[in-house]
Amino acid sequence: MDFRLTSEQEDFRKGFVAWLEKNIPDDFDPSRRRSYETEEDLKRAYIDFQKRLSDGAYAGMHYPKEYGGQGKTIVEEAIVLQTLAATCFELRWPGVITHGMAVPVIYTCGTEAQKKMFLTKIHDGTQLWSQGFSEPDAGSDVANTSTLAVRKNDHYIVNGQKVWTSFAHVSDYCLLLVRTDTGSSKHKGLSYLLVDMSLPGIDVRPMTQITGEADFNEVFFDNVKVPVDMLLGAEGQGWQIAVTTLMFERVLGDVVMGAAYEKKIEKMIAMAQLVKRSGRPALEDPIFRQQIAGAYIEVQVLKYHGLRSFSRQLKGGVPGPEGSVGKLLWSEPNQRLTEAALGVQGIFSQIMGGAPWSIQDGFWQFDFLRSKGNTIEAGTSEIQRNIIAERVLGLPKDVSRASIK
Ligand SMILES: Cc1cc2nc3c(=O)[nH]c(=O)nc-3n(C[C@H](O)[C@H](O)[C@H](O)COP(=O)(O)OP(=O)(O)OC[C@H]3O[C@@H](n4cnc5c(N)ncnc54)[C@H](O)[C@@H]3O)c2cc1C
Repeated sequence: MDFRLTSEQEDFRKGFVAWLEKNIPDDFDPSRRRSYETEEDLKRAYIDFQKRLSDGAYAGMHYPKEYGGQGKTIVEEAIVLQTLAATCFELRWPGVITHGMAVPVIYTCGTEAQKKMFLTKIHDGTQLWSQGFSEPDAGSDVANTSTLAVRKNDHYIVNGQKVWTSFAHVSDYCLLLVRTDTGSSKHKGLSYLLVDMSLPGIDVRPMTQITGEADFNEVFFDNVKVPVDMLLGAEGQGWQIAVTTLMFERVLGDVVMGAAYEKKIEKMIAMAQLVKRSGRPALEDPIFRQQIAGAYIEVQVLKYHGLRSFSRQLKGGVPGPEGSVGKLLWSEPNQRLTEAALGVQGIFSQIMGGAPWSIQDGFWQFDFLRSKGNTIEAGTSEIQRNIIAERVLGLPKDVSRASIK
């Protein structure tokens, strides 16, 4: 692959950078990252910015215009996502599932009516989505899903519980994995519903994380009537569509994280120039210099791995199990990076943002705590290694538990 942009693509990139400078809403100030008065304010900020992207012809770059996209190629999509990630890496972004999962899976597996109904509204910011896969007894082993959907005339009646559902408290719709057949094998009895979160019988209960935010939720379904035309794919195809959804999530992760982490390393270097160790800038500390060099190398590996996945998509392929390599490449290095940053701060690392003497407004304290979830969300590191072993390297199957994440 030739990594250089063509002159048109470079002009497009510069145009987007210039547009972004003028269009980042004021309340996207990173120092407000934790300080939205309410979660509805966070949602309003998201809607406002997504609408600006859509009005500026920067939403859904490689999706057809009839679905609210721009009809360009995946290269323009990558340029927009990388630029956004590099500029906004300090922000909370509730649209990650909406754009990383809902859009590609509805576009790939949806009926024409479903594409028309949802995609334009997602691209113009009207709709936010969440992903309801995990349950108390179905995390890594998602095929164990027990939330039940029983067909009754032209509806499914849904009963059960999901957990860790990110942004369910602000979402309009949910990608819901359900069991429609209790008689057949674990994998075959699953189906995939597009569920309106305002339906009667849905109870969303936010859960507070170690960061103090409540990004994810428990979601309870009590006789929720979901119209049959909200079935994605065929009944019984839920497992394949769930796997496809997760693979899309992983490709987006590589592209976005590579660009964001380069900026994070710059931020860490700026901090190490200011913070003193034995009277000298921490940047002169050989151990810290080694950590920065290590982090930089890991980011380059992630970046080129992401480009390889993109190159595959450019040639018409769909994301494959090698996306698990990317997941490991962004999650584990991020934990090392944030630990190194706190190490540089020494005793000041205990001071959170907003307090006197906090360094870089507590960015690294927050990021350190948030990074703990990186090796769990989107599938744990152990599960990624199982996938790489079995599906990429062709090693014998893990017989202890069935797993896809
Ligand atoms: C920040 C965050 C956001 C999330 N957002 C969402 C969301 O929006 N929607 C959603 O559906 N879920 C979400 N999740 C849930 C996430 O997908 C699950 O937590 C994850 O898949 C692990 O499942 P579990 O927690 O049930 O752990 P378990 O599956 O019970 O695993 C427990 C431990 O056992 C290990 N393990 C399990 N099976 C195997 C095996 N076969 N081989 C080796 N080791 C194994 C795991 O690696 C882990 O260390 C989120 C999680 C986090 C942390």
